[in-house]
Amino acid sequence: MSVLTDLIYGGSHAVAGLTEGAVNDAIAKYGADQEIAFPDTAYFFPTIYAATGVKVKTLGDLTACVGVLKSLITDQEDLGQALNAGLATAVGAEILEGLKYVNGAEPYANDSGIGFVPDPIIRSLGVPLVTGDIPGVAVVLGKAAAAEDVAKVVKDYQSKGIMTFLVGDVIEQCAEGGVKMGLEMRVVPLGHDVTSVIHVVTVAIRAALIFGNVQPGDLAGLLDYTKNRVPAFVNTFGEIDAVVVSAGAGAIALGFPVVVDIDLGENQVPGALESVCDHAETVKKSLELRGIKIKSKELPIPVAFAAAFEGEIIRKADMKVEFWSGKNPTAELVLMKDLSEVEDHKITIEGSDIDCGEKDFALATYVKVAGKKMQADFESVIERKIHAWFNYMEGVMHTGQRNQIRIRVSNAAYDAGLRLKHFGEVLYHMIMDEFDAVVDKCEVTLITDKAATQKFLDEVAMPRYNARDDRLASMTDEAVDQFYTCILCQSFAPAHCCVVTPERLGLCGAVSWLDAKATNELNPNGPCQPIPKDGLIDERTGRYEAVNRIVEEATHGAVSSVTLYSILEDPMTSCGCFECICGIEPASNGFIVVNREYKGMTPAGMTFGELASCTGGGVQTPGYMGHGRHFISSKKFIYAEGGIERIVWMPKELKDDVADKLNATAKELYGIDNFTDFVADETICTEVDDLMNFLTEKNHPVLAMEPLM
Ligand code: SF4
Ligand code: ZN
Repeated sequence: MSVLTDLIYGGSHAVAGLTEGAVNDAIAKYGADQEIAFPDTAYFFPTIYAATGVKVKTLGDLTACVGVLKSLITDQEDLGQALNAGLATAVGAEILEGLKYVNGAEPYANDSGIGFVPDPIIRSLGVPLVTGDIPGVAVVLGKAAAAEDVAKVVKDYQSKGIMTFLVGDVIEQCAEGGVKMGLEMRVVPLGHDVTSVIHVVTVAIRAALIFGNVQPGDLAGLLDYTKNRVPAFVNTFGEIDAVVVSAGAGAIALGFPVVVDIDLGENQVPGALESVCDHAETVKKSLELRGIKIKSKELPIPVAFAAAFEGEIIRKADMKVEFWSGKNPTAELVLMKDLSEVEDHKITIEGSDIDCGEKDFALATYVKVAGKKMQADFESVIERKIHAWFNYMEGVMHTGQRNQIRIRVSNAAYDAGLRLKHFGEVLYHMIMDEFDAVVDKCEVTLITDKAATQKFLDEVAMPRYNARDDRLASMTDEAVDQFYTCILCQSFAPAHCCVVTPERLGLCGAVSWLDAKATNELNPNGPCQPIPKDGLIDERTGRYEAVNRIVEEATHGAVSSVTLYSILEDPMTSCGCFECICGIEPASNGFIVVNREYKGMTPAGMTFGELASCTGGGVQTPGYMGHGRHFISSKKFIYAEGGIERIVWMPKELKDDVADKLNATAKELYGIDNFTDFVADETICTEVDDLMNFLTEKNHPVLAMEPLM
């Protein structure tokens, strides 16, 4: 037997033994009927569920799983067989980690790692992964001989937007090396036991179930999905023992190449398991092996610029200056001008720069753009990106938009030399890079003089915001002559296609009709294609021949009949990254709407995760549909079933968030005042009987409506 397969089998046997012992001990202690589950997932023990279809719910269920695990370890010399043993190790790791959660324990409460990654986080990663905003996923594990080496590698991934999961002592080594960690920073410490690596493996596996419509038990389909659609890879630091090698074999079986920093000599498997002993080469080699290409952005600014800094928080104590609408006038405006009115790459500061000694400033960020193909409708699309781009600067925090913003600059960024002109450079370069198809010239003016900012806000910005709002309000599905597809999520959900209309944004919440229109203009062969509003079949459900035809083309035949406004009759497909899910509540003849962030129970008897697992993967599920938050207050929301009057329950946070707009729509459509008062939430009830009592007491309009079925 080769050294490699020897190690793999040795590790697999060791893990199998540990797992069997741990399962037996747990059953002896708690009984076979003791329930067991990872927190906040609808996919049981995800590896076991996806690979075999078995739903582990009690400790007793695990005994059979241990049997399956052992049967995967054949001790045959063949590499394919050895990789199966690697999968056995993954199953063992999942069981060992799962057992840590027995009896409501919180094993990671006092650990620097987070342990199991809940479903909602995976759903939230959908869009950044498909847009390439997160170009890949790195798993970094072990203990580096020199801490600064691993910190450097991880910072490099961070600067490239790669999502990095850490396992083992590299966590502390990265912390020492000044790596900023957290989900928002795209560096996620998982845990210290090598088994905690399973928590990133199940992210990939659940992605296959959530987005890919891979059926539980379809092991071949699962491995095909992770190999071809999850751009993950593994880096190990330091000596590797048999268990690590065997876990690595599991990774390879899933299609994730492993780069180790010791010399494996002839035991290397080209393309799958390679040695890179020079840490300066680790990142390059890893990206190459996984075929990940990074669009590098070199900007003339003195601080780092990367998506990974978007979530950085700057506390008061670390803050050099602040621009905040709570204290001073502020505005952000992108305005379309004639080519002759814009001086390309001119950056003007009107007022003092941030080195004048003051702490609080007014700020108007005024961007003039011109281009032969520019349209006024794209102003807001570009303007909304200011938030992300300012945040990408290390040491800059930005929240809000338009005249309600807050920007903080850290002491460190200031000391590095960051000044206002760099804000202008960032805007100029990013606009010319991302919007080059419509913007030929761009000029930036940053006004900090308080009186001048106020004047700009009153005379230029506010009138423009108001005009845009009027236009948006008048932009109904009836008022336009085309809709758009969005198939961005097909890289994860191959059968999915959103149809984006003015009154129905994409289910991720990130793509409005204007965004789709701009995307199409910027990239005519890209993910958003126009759908002419031809061949109306049925107005009530929003059924069009052209929609059916183009969705059928876009989904390669998977979906051929789809309505825009019905949840019961051929509803739109869901990919998995939806902000909310709407589901039928049969007792009341109504619908509940649940947002991704809500963790509790609903009157449908299911959590968000459980509801969400009923839909997704690009399939149509009558009675359930994923959608964006803003869609709830739309006149087209479940229009065919009677509209928003059917909403009976929402989590409180969601209800409060959409209340103003939802109430305005209910008033306009049905003359109902304060409609949200009729809608229950978790502070009122989560049981269906209590819900019915509440609706009756309030005389909710749904009670007078026709039965749904
Ligand atoms: Fe994905 Fe639909 Fe959002 Fe496009 S609009 S990114 S397909 S969820
Ligand atoms: Zn999606």
